[in-house]
Amino acid sequence: MSIEIRGAAQVLQLPPGEPYLRHDRAGELTLEPGEVSLPSDTSVAIDARGCAVIPGFVDCHTHLPFAGWRESEFSERLTGVTYSEIAARGGGILSTVRATRAATLSDLTTLVRSRLDAMLALGTTLVEAKSGYGLSLEAEVKQLEAIRAAAGGHPVEVVPTFLGAHTVPKELRDDRARYVDAVVTEMLPEVARAGLAAYADVFVDAHAFSLTEARRILGAARSLGLGIRLHADQLASDGAAELAGELGAASADHLEHVSEAGIDALARAGTTALLLPAAGHFLMQEKTAPARRLVEAGVPVAIATDFNPGSCPTESMGTVLEHACLGLRLSIDEAITAATLNAAHALGRAAETGSIEVGKRADFVVHAVPNRYHLVYRFGVPRVRTVVAAGRIVVQEGRVTPQNSGARSC
Ligand SMILES: [Zn+2]
Repeated sequence: MSIEIRGAAQVLQLPPGEPYLRHDRAGELTLEPGEVSLPSDTSVAIDARGCAVIPGFVDCHTHLPFAGWRESEFSERLTGVTYSEIAARGGGILSTVRATRAATLSDLTTLVRSRLDAMLALGTTLVEAKSGYGLSLEAEVKQLEAIRAAAGGHPVEVVPTFLGAHTVPKELRDDRARYVDAVVTEMLPEVARAGLAAYADVFVDAHAFSLTEARRILGAARSLGLGIRLHADQLASDGAAELAGELGAASADHLEHVSEAGIDALARAGTTALLLPAAGHFLMQEKTAPARRLVEAGVPVAIATDFNPGSCPTESMGTVLEHACLGLRLSIDEAITAATLNAAHALGRAAETGSIEVGKRADFVVHAVPNRYHLVYRFGVPRVRTVVAAGRIVVQEGRVTPQNSGARSC
């Protein structure tokens, strides 16, 4: 079969390998027969005249399976109430934990699937999805099962991550050692046994888990065959990036307060710096991750939404591109690479997707803009016209095609 993109103003190809290797090619791209698994007599032509074609976005850090939004907390924050004050009265993450525990598996699956639809319509073809709003064996497994059920047959590929070490649940606030024990001796073994996650993640922070606790949890995860990643140095310089480098983690995420020693550790280990600029913007944080310094140090940089109900309730990788350029000072090409190829690398999927090239899965997006600079220059404007995921057209004229759409729900 062949997929021919006719008349695109610009097709951006991003070869694999070193971060920020890139070239672009104007004109026409034809994928040769046999590159993707469709019937041999299939021929698809996509009219991309006047458009830019780039790889599907890879949203490599999300908290997809949750119930309940937190718009009233956001409204309060705009009047000066702090996140800490909201958390102290039982809001914040713990309010989402309550709602997520109360939701059925079916409810959660429906919610995840509708969010995958929204992401697909915005040009995302690969997503990482974390648990972490269950904080008990039963509820964490329910979240991961919802991810698995929602992803089954959906055009968006989903990489699941176990984040039982997101925060200590309210009922064990006075016995945190017991919770860490439960993560290590009950949750991780069950998650690994059932094949429910590819990675384990730990939130290292004064209000979450210490370096010592993270080391124990991630060591246990690795011994069970899971990859590892960390929420690192988001609110203070905790030494988490140093730990990520020492352990050879796939990614260290957030990094607003990463130290010079942390940057060196990431560079030495080849650990991806996974930056979440839309979350920092939404939290109205003044300090941003030192993206330019990370690039200069040779650290692979990826970007993602951090989609969650508290600090980043958007599915839009287009929005993240804007914040990566205007907030973190990445160039447009660096930001696109960080949102595609480097993000796929952070999930161990760069050999299969993240760039448009012979031998990889056909995951690409036709954007109704004359060139890729317009993706950021014309900020805030929807522009996805066609999405091809795994060689199938799954979005046309900006809408998920009916046969590829999941349940609709808010
Ligand atoms: Zn996160």
